[in-house]
Amino acid sequence: MDESKALYFAGVDFGGTAAKIGVVDERGTLLRRSRLEIDPAQSYEEIFSAVSAQIQQMSEAEAVPLAAIGIGAPGFIDRREGRVLQGSENLPAFKERSLVTYLASAHDIPVFADNDGNCAAAGELKFGVGQEYSHFVMITLGAGVGGAIVIDGRVHRGSRGLAGELGHICLDPNGPWCSCGSRGCLEQYASAPAIVACYAQKRAKRSEAFRRDPQLLKLTPKEVFQRAGSGDVAAEEVIQETARRIAQAFGTLVNLMDIQACIIGGGVSAAGEELVEPVRRYLPDFAWPLPLSGVQVHAAGLQNDAGILGAAAQAWERLEG
Ligand SMILES: [Zn+2]
Repeated sequence: MDESKALYFAGVDFGGTAAKIGVVDERGTLLRRSRLEIDPAQSYEEIFSAVSAQIQQMSEAEAVPLAAIGIGAPGFIDRREGRVLQGSENLPAFKERSLVTYLASAHDIPVFADNDGNCAAAGELKFGVGQEYSHFVMITLGAGVGGAIVIDGRVHRGSRGLAGELGHICLDPNGPWCSCGSRGCLEQYASAPAIVACYAQKRAKRSEAFRRDPQLLKLTPKEVFQRAGSGDVAAEEVIQETARRIAQAFGTLVNLMDIQACIIGGGVSAAGEELVEPVRRYLPDFAWPLPLSGVQVHAAGLQNDAGILGAAAQAWERLEG
């Protein structure tokens, strides 16, 4: 790489309680990273002046000029103005505000904001397993279920930037109610809390002792996977059921879109093949053989720092026009 022409980006990944910030190069190397705790009582200006100071400090410490800043956040984000439309309830200061204007004026470089699911897919496309594909779908399994669609090597954002809410594909119209107002969405079966709740419920059915054990709901999906690995039948059932629901959602998308790959990201995807293998196995139940032929199912390539890398990748992708 000709260093004089190398591009560097800042990535800012807003979660419910913190912002992760980093400086990234074109290879996806995270040169520097930091974490900023966010108090929900903080104002928009307080949050962004702190984020801005960290970006400034990091780019100065690395002595690299930034080409653009990318921001990822949960919820619906207006594509053109970077305005938060809905779904960032944990960050009340952002409601109806643009996520790009403060940093654009403070740093005088392009700033792009996008939904965190779209950022995750942009990250895979630029730096992860998505580099091999031009057409894929991605779901991110965490506190909620996010998603994104990649068509012709670009994240498909739709007419207003609202596309890709794959967590809210309805899989069962009689299923559990969802925060979106629908029933039986993928999120109700495959989010981290859904996996843990399903396990707790199964254990409670099996034994009176477990019915009184509030600790069960404090487990993490990782612990449910570990229990399955050590022969816990209820945990294994949960994983099979979760994988089948994910396969159901992917199958619909395979039929609809003629894709090359289905990618599973987010914290739960750290389970790797333990989750991916059953999804792969159930997929033929839900897709036509011809569109399904050759379709790969992968865990995301980016795990730690996927949020920062994705936010930066999204800015790079949009800088290219
Ligand atoms: Zn929903």
